[in-house]
Amino acid sequence: SKVKDMSAEVVDSNPYSRLMALQRMGIVENYESIRGFSVAIVGIGGVGSVAAEMLTRCGIGRLLLYDYDTVELANMNRLFFRPEQVGMTKTDAAVQTLSEINPDVVLESFTLNITTVQGFETFISSLTNKSYSQKKEGTGVDLVLSCVDNYEARMVVNQVNNLLLLLFFFAGVSEDAVSGHIQLLIPGETACFACAPPLVVASGVDERTLKREGVCAASLPTTMGVVAGLLVQNTLKFLLKFGQVSPYLGYNALKDYFPTMTMKPNPQCSNRPCLERQKEYMLIKPARDAVAKAK
Ligand code: ATP
Ligand code: ZN
Repeated sequence: SKVKDMSAEVVDSNPYSRLMALQRMGIVENYESIRGFSVAIVGIGGVGSVAAEMLTRCGIGRLLLYDYDTVELANMNRLFFRPEQVGMTKTDAAVQTLSEINPDVVLESFTLNITTVQGFETFISSLTNKSYSQKKEGTGVDLVLSCVDNYEARMVVNQVNNLLLLLFFFAGVSEDAVSGHIQLLIPGETACFACAPPLVVASGVDERTLKREGVCAASLPTTMGVVAGLLVQNTLKFLLKFGQVSPYLGYNALKDYFPTMTMKPNPQCSNRPCLERQKEYMLIKPARDAVAKAK
């Protein structure tokens, strides 16, 4: 009938209707609540830019984007950035594309290096700033996605996590481009980035000697796309409270293997705030376990 055709047209022209179907189908209780969440993404490279696009298309409320780099032609083997954006900062280029895709998302661009004193300060103050936009008071940042590619930057993100007690997802892709992982860091409850240092650091090899000049690390848009997908899938599950979020989820492209595990914090961790968070967690743990048991 004619009435039916018209309703189909209305559904197709509204980008949110298929997202809202998740609610009708009983997967998500309140999809609309996604508009009230703020997510920060550190590192707008192969994984971070794609994660930003996915969250934008899902209708996230606010995105804070951090990167110090500019778009290069060499980035075209990845998704998201376009050749005509070469020379722009990655954060500004991202805002340009994302605001066209979904003008409802509040986008904040921070072109800075989080490992410098000034960059670190701006990073912290922007994460703790509660004003959502000029119009609205928000809750600050609900989740931080760490998509930086080097040890130094990850340690800084880790430090901020342990200090601010925010929730962070760390995403990583291996140098040979055929594996990756995402890891949820809950201060005091799960292992922090310093609790289990990667092999390279444990063996005392300087990262800079590994990335020799002129020798490129491998990169595949496929692996980065998969890891970004896993990252945002779990971000949605976490924010909208559906399904279960694994503290660690790996991806082995050669074997199509997705290992999951829980990593306990290390009582000998070199990060002092991590040890404090561990102590605090041990105090509240008995009460939490009792509640879980009663359920
Ligand atoms: P390459 O593989 O050649 O290193 P890339 O630098 O684009 O390429 P990605 O893994 O795609 O690496 O993305 C990581 C992103 O994190 C990059 O855009 C990089 O600029 C950003 N990044 C790394 N360290 C910092 C830092 N200290 N502060 C801000 N952004 C950073
Ligand atoms: Zn730790």
